[in-house]
Amino acid sequence: MKKISLLGSTGSIGKQTLDVVRANPDRFQITSLAVQSNTKLLHAQINEFKPLCAVVSDRVAGEKFKTEYSGPCKILVGEEHLQDLAVSEQTDVLLTAVVGFTGLRPTLAGIKAGKTIALANKETLVAAGNLVMNLAKAHKVDILPVDSEHSAVLQSMQGQVHSWIKKIILTASGGPFRTRSSEDLQNVSIEECLKHPNWNMGRKITVDSASLANKGLEVIEARWLFDVDYADIEVVVHPQSIIHSMVEYVDGSVIAQLGLPDMKLPIQYALTYPERIAADFGRLDFLKHSNLTFEQPNTDKFLCLKLAYQAGMADGVMPCVFNAANEVAVEYCLDSRLRFVDIPVVIEHVLGKTTNIKDYTLEDIFAVDAQSRSIAKEYIENLSK
Ligand code: NDP
Ligand code: MG
Repeated sequence: MKKISLLGSTGSIGKQTLDVVRANPDRFQITSLAVQSNTKLLHAQINEFKPLCAVVSDRVAGEKFKTEYSGPCKILVGEEHLQDLAVSEQTDVLLTAVVGFTGLRPTLAGIKAGKTIALANKETLVAAGNLVMNLAKAHKVDILPVDSEHSAVLQSMQGQVHSWIKKIILTASGGPFRTRSSEDLQNVSIEECLKHPNWNMGRKITVDSASLANKGLEVIEARWLFDVDYADIEVVVHPQSIIHSMVEYVDGSVIAQLGLPDMKLPIQYALTYPERIAADFGRLDFLKHSNLTFEQPNTDKFLCLKLAYQAGMADGVMPCVFNAANEVAVEYCLDSRLRFVDIPVVIEHVLGKTTNIKDYTLEDIFAVDAQSRSIAKEYIENLSK
């Protein structure tokens, strides 16, 4: 029985993780859950999965929930307790499905405690990839991707040797604005940004997918997960989202993983790796998907992808800056206080205002993250004046 601590259980990945657990009660046990403030759904999840412990990060929602809940599950209030779940003896696998930089501290704590990390929270690797991977190496901990592209790459690398890899090819759906002109994008509404053609995801990642910042974050994530140079990571737009990513080898062979777009598959693979188990997810019928197409991403229209490569290649704290600026810009965009097309403008501004630190410490990362957020906020507030 694998004991799972699930951070972000009420979100898109969290709920689908619980679907996988529900379908395999003899294999997986949920020992703890964590949410920001959705205590209504958390309550239902506690009743169904009977975890020993649950964290509510938002203090007001958490204190209120504590007075309402009277069952055996221990309720902890405050974000600092995410780390308690990460290091608990009752955790074998820490599945990190919170959004954003918040995931970094509990992930580091989990690694130090020797827990397997099933990583959905890509922002953690973007902000501090070198540090996270070195720590994982030192503690002999596996970091298993939940992100579908990286799961596809991992699956395409089974039985291969690292030195045989020529390049990684990440596929991208292109998002809802793939065929729209740059002029057309000037005044798109947040509702339009949130209409993803193939995937139903949380709000932040859906905006990231529309701007291609998500693909930029994934390029940086791939660099750290698979130890490849940025020059050897290519992005190809594949609007049907059937090929989830590929690896080209030195002999010219390309190995890919295919399937219907359903996050339950990569979630389950991260939980069973290196094994596979049966599942009743939809099956791919090639005759119904006879038109698989590929395009080059338009990085003039989707500047975030170009900026992510630049930040990644600059290395040091620049990916952390990229991530923080993007998180702030998306937050404002979700509130309709920043135009969608200004997201890369904000990121470029904050990158330009930051002096890089090549050999960073964890303290540097927290300081740079905070500084980037405040530069981004000030810039956006001035934009709207
Ligand atoms: P959602 O917005 O749907 O869910 C986020 C979850 O995290 C919610 O349960 C939320 O709780 C919880 N949460 C947020 N902040 C905190 C906090 N401080 N403490 C505890 N819990 C918190 O996001 P997604 O599921 O879409 O994405 C999660 C992560 O997975 C992101 O990093 C994303 O990039 C990545 N990912 C997502 C994919 C997808 O298909 N959705 C695909 C690949 C990667 P509450 O409900 O109370 O707010
Ligand atoms: Mg992805």
